[in-house]
Amino acid sequence: MAGWDHVWQEAVSRVTAAFQQLPVPVRRDLEALATAMVAHKQAMQRLVSQADAASHCAACGGACCAKGKYHFSAVDLLVYLATAKPLFAPRFDNGLCPFLGEPECLIPAGYRPFNCITFNCDLIEDQLPRDEVARFYQMEQELSARYTEIRALFPAGSMAGSLL
Ligand code: SF4
Repeated sequence: MAGWDHVWQEAVSRVTAAFQQLPVPVRRDLEALATAMVAHKQAMQRLVSQADAASHCAACGGACCAKGKYHFSAVDLLVYLATAKPLFAPRFDNGLCPFLGEPECLIPAGYRPFNCITFNCDLIEDQLPRDEVARFYQMEQELSARYTEIRALFPAGSMAGSLL
């Protein structure tokens, strides 16, 4: 789908230009925040992996990823840029989430969008001890605050919402 590819490239260029214009001290702050966000998401993924999430997702066929679309945000792209992580190529021709590869998400857990890393279906959540579920939702709130901190490095509203 050439149309979506074009929209994607334009959005990536806009955010990349804003990133490149950051003063060096702000860029350093962003790098630190981005590195911490990656570690935070990886910790959330480790917590959920106690419930053998990978096999539940494989058995279900990843229904949430088939329905989910365009969760990748401007902040998610800034985290890629600030940590010098090579960006994936979306697949706008698959009729599913454009970030869904074969057989799994093109985005590593530490870089995955907020909605994706914080969503647990009942199959998975029911396998987790209650205190771990509570810890997970505490981490979700902390993750939301990390997004806010990164957005605050840029003019108000300029890094809000989904990239597409
Ligand atoms: S970005 Fe990845 S985890 Fe999120 S819906 Fe798409 S394929 Fe699934």
